[in-house]
Amino acid sequence: MTIPQLDRLRTHCHRLRLYQLESELPTLLEQAAKREQSYADFLDELFGREVGAKTQKHLAMRVAMARFPFQKTLESFDFKFQPSIDPKIIRELATGRYIESGDNVLLLGPPGVGKTHLAVALGLKACEQGVRTLFTTAAGLIATLGKALAENRLDERLKLLGQPQLLVIDEIGYIPIDRQGANLFFQLVSRRYERGAIILTSNQSLGAWGEVFGDPVIATAILDRLLHHSITVNIKGDSYRLREKLKAGLLKPRGAEPVDSTQSR
Ligand code: ADP
Ligand code: MG
Repeated sequence: MTIPQLDRLRTHCHRLRLYQLESELPTLLEQAAKREQSYADFLDELFGREVGAKTQKHLAMRVAMARFPFQKTLESFDFKFQPSIDPKIIRELATGRYIESGDNVLLLGPPGVGKTHLAVALGLKACEQGVRTLFTTAAGLIATLGKALAENRLDERLKLLGQPQLLVIDEIGYIPIDRQGANLFFQLVSRRYERGAIILTSNQSLGAWGEVFGDPVIATAILDRLLHHSITVNIKGDSYRLREKLKAGLLKPRGAEPVDSTQSR
């Protein structure tokens, strides 16, 4: 191969946006010559590398756009520590079928049981499946919506929040929500209803949402839409954060309670 030919090939790669090939071409050509690769094997290797690089790049972009607070995976979740979670349900969720049908997932339980971990892990799985995902906390979301309302841009913001195929809303219930916040939250849930999936985590049982939203009527309206097509995972167990203290006998376990996961369609 002549130098001008190699330069030309690189220019072609660049025009075609095959950036991985552009950078690897000399090495790959050398390798192919050494290994006496067939034409088909050579092309297979070339395109395989480019597709691999593009897939990685797109995944990294989706993950960055999702704005996860950290990256935790399902693989690093210890299901044995939390027997109230049925791993089958989580494995089913990992397939992403609930996203296709615009269903919601509610992860409920006391602090430290892995709600945010699971929500992030499912979000990451969704990103791997090419799903546009956005992670937010309930407090952050309501603040954003309140700001948009004050700036007369609520509709624009609701439209933006309607775009990700999966919206993760973490930590409902830690901070009480005022009437305006509840109303804005209702508008968001209505906008996404049967259109875009939501994963929601809460340390409060659904029965306590009337208090969380400061108004039982609006809480019922929100729950009505959220629960219509939904999977609820009730986690009843010990805080993973405190497991070392539990092991050392410094704390009493919350007590093993039966599996309690419900689905409604
Ligand atoms: P929650 O959101 O329910 O308060 P987190 O998901 O923030 O709890 O979990 C607290 C910490 O413990 C995180 O670092 C999380 O990764 C870890 N953790 C919780 N449960 C498990 C588990 N079953 N296996 C592995 N790590 C866990
Ligand atoms: Mg959490």
